[in-house]
This record gives sequence, C-alpha cells and structure tokens, in this order.
Amino acid sequence: MKFVKPLIALAVLVGLFLLSKTAFAIVLALLLALVALAVWVKGGSQPADASIPKSLDGPAFRTYESTGSGSPLRLRHFISQPEEINVSSSLIMGTHEVICVTAQPTKFAAERLADMIEETGLKLTYVYLDHAHLDHSQGAAVLIKRFPDAKFVGAPNVVALQHLRMEADDKMARARYGDNAAVPSVPFEALDAGKLMLEGHEIQLWHDQFGDVGIGEPDEPHTVIYIPDLKALLPTDICYWQGHIMMGGSTPDSRARWKQQIREWMQMDLNVVIPGHVVRAESPSMTAQGVLEFSLDYIDAYEDVLDSSATSDEVIARMQDLYPDLGHVSALHIGTFILFGETHRLLFNNRIEKIFGLLPAGLRRSLDHKMFASRKAAANF
Ligand SMILES: [Zn+2]
Repeated sequence: MKFVKPLIALAVLVGLFLLSKTAFAIVLALLLALVALAVWVKGGSQPADASIPKSLDGPAFRTYESTGSGSPLRLRHFISQPEEINVSSSLIMGTHEVICVTAQPTKFAAERLADMIEETGLKLTYVYLDHAHLDHSQGAAVLIKRFPDAKFVGAPNVVALQHLRMEADDKMARARYGDNAAVPSVPFEALDAGKLMLEGHEIQLWHDQFGDVGIGEPDEPHTVIYIPDLKALLPTDICYWQGHIMMGGSTPDSRARWKQQIREWMQMDLNVVIPGHVVRAESPSMTAQGVLEFSLDYIDAYEDVLDSSATSDEVIARMQDLYPDLGHVSALHIGTFILFGETHRLLFNNRIEKIFGLLPAGLRRSLDHKMFASRKAAANF
C-alpha cells in the first residue's frame, strides 16, 4: 500500500511529460525547489547529538537520613546532566527494599540511575511516575531491562496521560536526544492508592497537585510524595532549584493554586525538599526552605514580567536580567513561547523562524494556532 502514492505521482509526471514538455519542466522545477527548501530548513535544526553527556562529573549525590525518629529509611538524590535538563530522581531506601521516584529522561541518565540503584544492594520494588512528562518517564525503557521484577506505577490519571503521549514522546525524545533517547516508552501501570508502604513505613502520595504543564491542561495532575519518617517532600516539577521554571500552559488561576501549595508547604516542618529539576552545580547549596522560597519567588517574578511585557522576547530578556545565573534557559524559552502561542519557535529551527518572519502577522498567528491546537489535541483527553 505504501507504494500507491509514489506510483500515482509518477503516473501523473509521465502523463504530464507526454502531454506537455513545458508543463512537465515547470512541475519538475517546482518539485526540486521544494526538496531544496526542505533540505535547507532541516539544516537549521539544533543537532540532537549535542545533548549526549560524556560523564557524570559534578557534585556528589546526597543521602538524607532521618533525624530523631530512629526510622531506618534513607533518601538518595540523583540528578542528570545539564544537557538532560537536570532531572531529579529520588531513591527511598529501607533495609532491604528501595523505591525509585522518576525514571529520568535519557539512556545515559537512566543507566547511571540504574547503577546507583544496584549499588544500594536493595531490591527495587517500584518505579513511581509523578507526572506524565517525557523527562520523567522515558528512562523506564532502560530501568525495565535492568530491573524486570520492579513495578512501574503512577496515579491512574497520570498513567492515562502517559499512555496517550507515548508515541509523541518517543518521537520528541529521538529528535531531542538522538542516540541518547530512551525508547520505546514503557507503559506505566495505574496504581489507585494514597500511599505506598516500604517495609511498614508510610510513603504518602498527594495526587492532583498543580505545577508545570507545557502543552497539557492547566490542571494537569502531579503527584507529590511526602515521607513522614524523613520529613521529606518530593514536589516534582512544582518546584525547581536554580533553574528556570517551565511556565508554559499555566494560567493566572493555575499559578495562584500552584503558589498556594508552596506557601502551605512553607508552613510544614520539613528537613528535605527534592524538586523536579536541580542544577547539579548548585545542588550543594540546596535547602528545604530555600527550594520553596526560590520557586515561589520565581513564579511571582515571572508573573510580574509576563503582565508587563509586550512580547515573548521581552519576557525572556527581562527574566534573564533578573536571574542571570540560572540554569536550563531552554525551559524559559519553551514556556514563554507556549504562553505567547509562538508554536513554530518550539521547533528551535532558525530557518523556520526566518520563513515565519516573512509571513503576514495574521497568517503567522493562524499557523501557530493550528500547530498548537493539533499538538494539544494529541497530548490531552
Ligand atoms: Zn520535568
């Protein structure tokens, strides 16, 4: 069947050649021009291979133990490289079992995470998916090979979204990470529970929390994990440390609920907060209250800048002036392009941007809108 369309095209060309040599020459020239344009446009893409890290240099990963409660639970924090957008995974360790929260975005990161799980000498029982974004789910493709007996689980609404997005996630992972893409996606299983038990100790699962959504709906679900024995909170992509927060897809309402959650956590007696993304070089200075304050301040600052800027470029420039040293600037770009409906800029292809720059504003907006609507429809119920 896949030969039908090329055969029809060939028949049309042959027919045209027999009918009129001039028409044939014009159509052939147009086709060649289109192919040349496509090759030129493709050359403007950022190369995917640039994102493969060579090693896991940087600060040592930290382990947190209980202070005072006498609990045997411990928490170990893994962070991927800057090219892999510094994704946090947390190992919640008992005396003979371990639970892993977040599977990492790439092959390289997930292999290093698997090494760290093996080094604990404990049995991996669960890999928990805290929200349905590829930077937290793709690494399951590696982990399932290394730990075939582990259960890969998440809240039912998180897992349903992950299943819906698997094909698009694989495509995006290949485009972004090239040989470092962890594919194909592993479907997580729905676990309808408010807690996990680790050797008799409770790990609380707080479902339906609000955070970064990208092309999702503003109320896209995140599961926040709280470990009472360690006074440890894992707020996933609701908090970051020393990196730009992805604000795309948020609304004034969702940001108000997002900030309210953080304010409530600030009232808790917490020893540890491990956010979804942590700039590795800055991880030694991370503290529980510091993470919450940084995240709240950043969202407040972003809202002020967003409300008083005319263009996405202005928002990006002003946020970089306010926060000149923050990592993963790509999150600032992606989030702001989404909020301004500039879908073509999410392709990160300077030649496509040139072509769009030549189009009338109305046509540009309409194309952007159509592209975004189809992306959103494919990634949401
Ligand atoms: Zn993330």
